[in-house]
Amino acid sequence: MCVNSCLGFTGPFTKLEVCPYCGEKRYEDVDVNDSSRRNRKDGKPRKQFCTIPIGPQLQALWRSPRGAQSMSYRRKCTERVLRELQENEGVKVSPYEDFFDGSEYIEKVIRGDVGENDIFLVL
Ligand SMILES: [Zn+2]
Repeated sequence: MCVNSCLGFTGPFTKLEVCPYCGEKRYEDVDVNDSSRRNRKDGKPRKQFCTIPIGPQLQALWRSPRGAQSMSYRRKCTERVLRELQENEGVKVSPYEDFFDGSEYIEKVIRGDVGENDIFLVL
């Protein structure tokens, strides 16, 4: 990635050796006397960024009993909100605390668009 975090040298930027935004070099300067690193492509990146795909991270939340218990938080909150709506003729009387309390979310639950074990990722 750019040393100033402007972009990752991936996709259309894969072949660039200079950041198109800030002009910083992608690689550390190559020692021309080091025969193993004469090729620019073998140069050491000045900055790297590692990613872990979100799917395995979410799956890992279910690995332990404690994690699985934590993953039931949304379901429990949803049940609480639905119960409250049922007891108050569809009117929410308690304060809004989280997105579970929002009408957009609750309407999706009522329509059946949200399953009991679905995971919501809020960005
Ligand atoms: Zn840059």
